[in-house]
Amino acid sequence: MTARHLLRHSPAASEILTKWTCEHRDSPYPTAAEKETLRGLTGLNVRQLNTWFANYRRRKQAGRPSKDTSATTPQLVTDAIENEPDTQAVPEQETSLLLQGKKFQCTFCTDTFSTKYDWTRHETSCHIPLKRYICCPFSAVQQCASTGNQICAYCGLTSPTSEHIASHNHDYCQSREPNARIFLRKDHLRQHLRSVHECGMLPHMDDWLLEAAWVNSRCGFCGERFTTWNERNEHLASHFRDGYHMGMWKGCRGFDGAVSAQVIAAMPPFLIDLERLRPFPFSASNAKRGPGLPQNRSWEFLVAGLHRLVKYRASQSRPVSDQDLQDEARLLTYGSSTADIHTAADNPEWLDLFKKAYSLGILTCLTEGQEPYTAEDLEVYHDLGIAIPSLSQEQRTSALLVLFQNDGPIPKAYRRFSASRVPLQKALPFETISGPWPDAVGVPKDTGSRA
Ligand SMILES: [Zn+2]
Ligand SMILES: [Zn+2]
Ligand SMILES: [Zn+2]
Ligand SMILES: [Zn+2]
Repeated sequence: MTARHLLRHSPAASEILTKWTCEHRDSPYPTAAEKETLRGLTGLNVRQLNTWFANYRRRKQAGRPSKDTSATTPQLVTDAIENEPDTQAVPEQETSLLLQGKKFQCTFCTDTFSTKYDWTRHETSCHIPLKRYICCPFSAVQQCASTGNQICAYCGLTSPTSEHIASHNHDYCQSREPNARIFLRKDHLRQHLRSVHECGMLPHMDDWLLEAAWVNSRCGFCGERFTTWNERNEHLASHFRDGYHMGMWKGCRGFDGAVSAQVIAAMPPFLIDLERLRPFPFSASNAKRGPGLPQNRSWEFLVAGLHRLVKYRASQSRPVSDQDLQDEARLLTYGSSTADIHTAADNPEWLDLFKKAYSLGILTCLTEGQEPYTAEDLEVYHDLGIAIPSLSQEQRTSALLVLFQNDGPIPKAYRRFSASRVPLQKALPFETISGPWPDAVGVPKDTGSRA
């Protein structure tokens, strides 16, 4: 079994074995029959199984459930590699072995692609819909491209009267909220035309597909910021060609709230590399776990659980340490606070973000159904890996308007986090808040305050 092979199988195997040890804590020595069963479940051979248990007991005796909180590779995997005599240590760079030549990596899920075209198409079709059909975005009377005649935008009738235009319910539709006239799919526009305007699709309506070009974002490899989607894609593509992978990504995607509100099926970008090692990594293109299913549940569950812990401790005026949060995360995820597997809480960036989100009060909507969030906070939800709570009609409308007005760079390129907004007593439940919020680095002071 090669290191490559072992790496691919170890995370699933480790989870199975850890679960077994949790259930047999008093005596973590499997019988011959149990070993046979575990071999069947994990695909490991006898020697690998024995090595794993020896490691497990050694760690348990040493009392170090999980020391290296900065590592993004689960300790078990590296240990398994270290203890495999016929394999060599795998350099850090190769922890993303599973990419297998697919250089271009989705920044929303664990999918990877061999071409830039496939990568960008995946991101815009599965995660961030930047193209929308808008009903009659121009005038109701248009010039026909082939004949030059004035025609009705709905049915193509030459020289239409104002009564004719009115008969298509033009004013009614135009007066509605933008999101009642904006459609993700062509067949939705067709349906709308039939039911509201009593007409069908005509060739000139292909021009009604509008693309949002101005999108603020950032690069998680070098921190550079962009105002257009193309600029961002060109930049990230060159990083990927140079061998960068999502294990090197730091911080958020840098979207404004308006864009974040459109994002679907997204996980924290800086956890993607860790997620690849799990048995069923979060993937938007995997049909069984595709968009529409509650893919974010595991992080939501974790955030809600940790939130409960912090609130409980706060009610007793007891602070919460990083270790408390990490142990609780393991308990919530694997049923044991001593399980030797990393959770999102072992990623310092995620943990920091959780504390910030707690202090900003945006987590209460998860557990108490309140709506304390504002447009600027929306990306925090994605960065934590939880779905944005349903927006009000007004918020949806303004989000869409910002995205599709397309008249130049969108201002407020920075998410406006401010340390001063966090009331001191709210920040107190944590013993430490370590390090600055990664995205706050380089944010000009004058944009850093929020009313
Ligand atoms: Zn994806
Ligand atoms: Zn319409
Ligand atoms: Zn007409
Ligand atoms: Zn960069």
